[in-house]
Amino acid sequence: MADYDPGNIFAKILRGEIPSHRVYEDDAVIAFMDVMPQGKGHTLVVPKAQSRNLLDADTATLGPLFIGVQKLAQAVKKAFGADGVTILQFNEPASGQTVYHLHVHVIPRFEGVPLKPHSGQMEKPEVLAENAGKIRAALAG
Ligand code: AMP
Repeated sequence: MADYDPGNIFAKILRGEIPSHRVYEDDAVIAFMDVMPQGKGHTLVVPKAQSRNLLDADTATLGPLFIGVQKLAQAVKKAFGADGVTILQFNEPASGQTVYHLHVHVIPRFEGVPLKPHSGQMEKPEVLAENAGKIRAALAG
């Protein structure tokens, strides 16, 4: 497996070098909108600690990461009135991983609505901004 590359796009987002529609941050994780959502409100939860994926992650990263995943899962369900939430996580190219900094997909689900393709179409920035606002509001209470 290749080494962690600090030039990956999520590392740049974590360092504030490129923009994102950020909805949440704590000591361990940030969460922001996926720009090619597989469903309305598709959010990514990203640990601040560096690892390529789950396979090389420090175990200390995992608890805080999944606390963040649960927080975002609850928030997106509330924000969009979803019927359920799908959690996805990919490791290495054979699995479909395309960005090599560990992250977890949190996707609101609606009865009868299939997931769109992974890394499919770019969403309009104004739609991402609106959805991010709804998630922030749900997190705020
Ligand atoms: P994967 O590595 O396969 O788990 O997927 C990476 C995800 O990151 C895909 O769902 C992409 O749509 C998403 N993505 C790629 N670049 C960005 C970006 N700059 N901001 C937000 N999401 C991104």
